[in-house]
Amino acid sequence: MSDSEMHGVLSALLERVGDAVSDAASTLDDLTDEDVAAGAAAIVAVALSETVVRIAQGVQADAVTALDRRRREMVGSSMTEHDLCRSLFVEIAMARQASTTAGETTYRLARDLEDHPEAHALLRDGKVNQAVVAAVCRETVYLDPSTRAEVDRELAPQLRALGPKRAAAAARRLVLDHEPHAAYERTVRAREERHVHLRPELDAMATLSIYAPAAQLVGVWHRLDAEASARRSDGDPRTIAQLACDLALEALNGAGVTSGGVAVDVEVGVLMRPETMFGADDAAAVLQGYGPVPAELARGLVASGRSWVRRFFTAADGHQITDVDPRRRRFPEVVARAVRAADEYCARPWCECRVREIDHVTAYAAGGETTRANAQGLCRSDNLLKQTRRWRVDTDHAGVRTWTTPTGHQYVAPAPPGVAPPSVLENHLRRLLEVSRG
Ligand SMILES: [Zn+2]
Repeated sequence: MSDSEMHGVLSALLERVGDAVSDAASTLDDLTDEDVAAGAAAIVAVALSETVVRIAQGVQADAVTALDRRRREMVGSSMTEHDLCRSLFVEIAMARQASTTAGETTYRLARDLEDHPEAHALLRDGKVNQAVVAAVCRETVYLDPSTRAEVDRELAPQLRALGPKRAAAAARRLVLDHEPHAAYERTVRAREERHVHLRPELDAMATLSIYAPAAQLVGVWHRLDAEASARRSDGDPRTIAQLACDLALEALNGAGVTSGGVAVDVEVGVLMRPETMFGADDAAAVLQGYGPVPAELARGLVASGRSWVRRFFTAADGHQITDVDPRRRRFPEVVARAVRAADEYCARPWCECRVREIDHVTAYAAGGETTRANAQGLCRSDNLLKQTRRWRVDTDHAGVRTWTTPTGHQYVAPAPPGVAPPSVLENHLRRLLEVSRG
């Protein structure tokens, strides 16, 4: 079925890009030999590429708006707003091969640009970049559509000359002119978004960030800095940066931190082969919530005297956890733990959220078994999404999973990484287990 509206959007895209390329070509013709020798043509190509990206982002917003309108016409009131948006965010994210958050950002910007037609036109013509229009939309988000459109009109003539920060400041001034109360409402609204985020870094390190009201965080920061400086002047050999970090961890843990490890009662999962645990080899272990870590570090973590060891036995292919009753409906905790330990991230392509729920790929009701091969770790929202209208996940015999979205697009997720093939020691342990059962 042909779609005349989208054909129109695509022709407009082609036309704008064509114009930008011919403009660049005539610029090239006018270059002097000296400028060409210095690389001027390459800069023309850099600028052209930038323009093409902006044009494409402007057109992408048109496509998202069309998608949104059509989907709403199709589902009517049969879906909640939350489920509908969630479905759209993920579908846009998958088309962009990006995270759900990126999909949501694209969607929200497209909707915001409906109230900023002038800014949208500048983006579509390649005159301003997406960061600038996004910064403006963020500032006007609490205005009603007609006031937003007024701000858009007043701001448009100066937008081309501004970067995102200046554009945001200019937009904020206009917002305050129109609705002085809006700024305060924003600070109240922003507090709802407070959260803590963990980001894995290189060398078995991670960054924990706290998004909270600035006043509180500035207070915390000053206190950490003052206490660290005081301890440093009292002769503590650690640097002020190290001291501030250790003090923050101490406060958050509610306990003292030892130099090498963790001294709090929280569960930290580490998956490793028995040889690694006993020091016979140095295969990488997996720290749950972070990913692969050096064997030596993992051994240190489990050797703290406060740890428990749980053994997972695998079949010869290294994928299937044996010794689990396949007839049970609920996932046995042992399988859940194996999946959580092996799959750090949600199994939906491009989702990088932590695994929160274990899902039967083939539903139990449809004959799916409760085994490692039929299990996938999903984030909470994708597990819900999978059950909403027109979403489908199929798996083939090799464990490759195909996600089908409401528009019928398909995305393939590779089979989940198996636990490493069983080692000699594991096989020995399994034989011992079988003998003791028999
Ligand atoms: Zn997910």
